[in-house]
Amino acid sequence: MNSVIDLYLKHHHMQLPREVIVGNGALERVPEISRKLGFRKSALIIAGKKTYDIAGKTVKELLEDDKMEVNTLLVETATIMDVGAAEEKIRTLKPQVVFGVGGGTKIDVAKCSSAHQETPFISIPTTASHDGIASPLSSIKGLDKPFSVMSQAPIAIIADTNIIMQAPWRFIISGCGDVIAKLTAVRDWKLAHEERNEYYGTYAASLALMSAKLVMENAGLIKQESEEGVRVLLEALISCGVAMSIAGSSRPCSGSEHMFSHALEMVRPNQSMHGERCGIGTIMMASLHKARWKHVRTTLERLGAPTTASDLDARKEDVVEALRMAATIRPERYTILSKLSLGVADCERLAKATGTI
Ligand SMILES: [Zn+2]
Repeated sequence: MNSVIDLYLKHHHMQLPREVIVGNGALERVPEISRKLGFRKSALIIAGKKTYDIAGKTVKELLEDDKMEVNTLLVETATIMDVGAAEEKIRTLKPQVVFGVGGGTKIDVAKCSSAHQETPFISIPTTASHDGIASPLSSIKGLDKPFSVMSQAPIAIIADTNIIMQAPWRFIISGCGDVIAKLTAVRDWKLAHEERNEYYGTYAASLALMSAKLVMENAGLIKQESEEGVRVLLEALISCGVAMSIAGSSRPCSGSEHMFSHALEMVRPNQSMHGERCGIGTIMMASLHKARWKHVRTTLERLGAPTTASDLDARKEDVVEALRMAATIRPERYTILSKLSLGVADCERLAKATGTI
């Protein structure tokens, strides 16, 4: 073992959230949490136009009632330009804390820009469609990588189920797909450990795996569109975020199924949601891992999640092409796809055998 790795193992750094609030009306606790963390003077809220109306405005009013100076930055995308604009705003206003209010992109911009400017970040998700709401990674467009990069963990996560349940149900289903994906992500990680001697953290892996199992076991409850079901999902998503914080990378939560998801988005952009594609990817990658892929498919069907190309408005050849491309998305990340190096005919056979095409 060389000394750099040795040093890294000695100094494994975990940055974790300190306050996590999940439940109906959680938004009202924003001033209390903010005060508790020592942010009593100033804040910057980063939100989208829609998410500002849904939650950002309330956050602003609640903090202002608490005598804080609050500024707002509205963003619609998560490009390098957006992050640059947010950083400029943070440099000028010097807020004590940055709130990211939204689904994916707004939280990503808030997380990434606040990390660069060494300012704490609080995550206020308005949807539960993926684990980025609690992870230390952000997905930014224009970095010439379709996947996420390390930035910082939120210091607090305030997830109001009342707000999250108002989003289209498809977002919840997508969130379930992103959690179920951990079944194969963890298997890929373990494989990389066994065959490439990559660092593997049992604790982080178990946490991610347990989240996937909990969502699968509670599929019936989630399907009922109950608050209780949404809570199970939110807690699982937050645990997945924490698993990444513990691992110090996205390894426990993102494997070959995520590569398939990223590839399909490149082949057929803007047709489907991240977690929906991950769910379908998990069916196929579970089959490659010789895991219980039929159980994955049945659970997704039970949730009402997409399980076939046509469910995603994709063509059969798109799925085959995405499978072929998947291994090239992140060549440095060793997965079952690196091990098997599938040809086009293998990809087609896999998709057919698992019923995704
Ligand atoms: Zn994901």
